[in-house]
Amino acid sequence: MAKYDVAIAGAGPGGSYAAKTAAELGLKTVFFERSRKVGEKNASGCGLGQRWWRDFPEIMEKVEKLPSYRDIHSCIFKIVDEDDNLVTTISTTKTKKDAERIMYKGIPRAMSGTSIYRCDLDPLLADLACEAGAELRTSTLVTDVMKENGRVTGLVTDKGEKIEADIVIGADGAHSIVAIKSGIRKRWRKDQITLIPQIDFKCNEQRLDDVIGPAEWVWFGPFCGAYQVNFRDGFHLGLGQWLDIWALKPADMIKRVLKIPAFQAMCRAVDAEMREYQIHMLPWMEKPGKSYADGVMLIGDAGGFPCPLEGEGVWHACFTGKYAAETAAEAISNGDPTTRTLQKYEAKWRQPPLGLEYEYGKEFVALWKNSAFNPEFMKKMVQFLGELQWLNFPSPIFDWSDDHMSSFNDHLGHVLDLLPELSEFAEKYVIPMKRGISDTNREKIANMISGSISAKLPGFIPDWPVKSIVRKKLGLK
Ligand SMILES: Cc1cc2nc3c(=O)[nH]c(=O)nc-3n(C[C@H](O)[C@H](O)[C@H](O)COP(=O)(O)OP(=O)(O)OC[C@H]3O[C@@H](n4cnc5c(N)ncnc54)[C@H](O)[C@@H]3O)c2cc1C
Repeated sequence: MAKYDVAIAGAGPGGSYAAKTAAELGLKTVFFERSRKVGEKNASGCGLGQRWWRDFPEIMEKVEKLPSYRDIHSCIFKIVDEDDNLVTTISTTKTKKDAERIMYKGIPRAMSGTSIYRCDLDPLLADLACEAGAELRTSTLVTDVMKENGRVTGLVTDKGEKIEADIVIGADGAHSIVAIKSGIRKRWRKDQITLIPQIDFKCNEQRLDDVIGPAEWVWFGPFCGAYQVNFRDGFHLGLGQWLDIWALKPADMIKRVLKIPAFQAMCRAVDAEMREYQIHMLPWMEKPGKSYADGVMLIGDAGGFPCPLEGEGVWHACFTGKYAAETAAEAISNGDPTTRTLQKYEAKWRQPPLGLEYEYGKEFVALWKNSAFNPEFMKKMVQFLGELQWLNFPSPIFDWSDDHMSSFNDHLGHVLDLLPELSEFAEKYVIPMKRGISDTNREKIANMISGSISAKLPGFIPDWPVKSIVRKKLGLK
């Protein structure tokens, strides 16, 4: 029977990064991939955020040279109404914080993300693991774990092989066999997992450069919150939905995006042709559950690590892969692969930067479920954004249906009507995050709110009681 220090199920980003780290630490490492070649599961969006330049710059330098790479500097939101009209376009842009936040080799990177196909990214990471000395076995499905006195002691493959290892790492994605067979968790509950249909479009590269440029797009409206991740010569359109919210089925929602006239016009402009249709599952929850047991650790999607705000998960998979491999090295060197040492893995990922992702998990999931997945709220939001845009100079000139000041007043009236409804939402879902808002910003909000309340009160009422109530609500002394 083959014997390894570490056996890893799965060669996605998490599994490969864990294999790379373990091999670099001198551990005899094997990792298994069910596909014929790594990266066959072209599942992910796949946008890599700016933090990659801070945390994995050596990988980003290689990613920049891969064939499907597109440099990303902004995110463009295409806001559509319930009749599929394009209401407005909102774009993020460079902020003055850009230069301060992430600098790499003298270049500000706080607004530089990346789009890369998984069929490029995954082989890059797996190759790095193999170069470090890990052994990769493709076309091999892990079907079970081996156990001795309750401790996980290896993996079983579909070829009937029994692979003995001091430490097993479950990097086998959302449907993790390792997680279930080792008894760490059962199948995800419906409110912990999303179903994401995604379409891959092939495009004319030059036209993509001209029409889209260095940007990701998002289609946002009462019936959609769809991402459009743009690569060198194509894009992914996808959206997801928790399994417990089936009033709107993801497949129906994505069909709806395909019918949006502005989406179709963009497709014509870039010569888009459908290339592949996929449906995948993605754990999306407030925070990960238990991530280890005797002899075994779960990383990436297998452990439920994607971020609770936007389901980003490749960064999380690589970080947990690194932490799990480091913990494995420690467990092997001190001869104790039991929970006594492996609990350090959980202690590690609970620390910043990864642990910070889940600090507001509950609030982020609630925010998302009650906005993008609530068509009634989104109808109001779309209307609000549209009206707000209109109030912005020079838009009033466009509405010539009445004299300008009457039109201006109509729109202002609508915005004011919508504000109480939106502030109800803010009170319910945004204020609960107040402990995360900095003291300086809370001071600013308190002064603004109490100032505007006091201004409406008769002169004989002093300011201080108002100030004190507002400050208390915001958790200030
Ligand atoms: C449609 C979609 C879009 C996404 N977009 C983004 C994005 O833009 N940016 C981002 O950061 N994240 C994105 N995510 C999330 C991200 O893809 C995952 O969080 C990330 O891929 C997790 O990495 P992983 O290595 O844990 O698992 P996976 O990427 O799922 O890799 C698991 C690997 O293990 C293999 N495997 C599975 N079971 C077995 C087995 N039993 N035996 C052997 N091999 C096995 C699989 O074939 C696969 O190669 C997206 C997810 C989806 C579904």
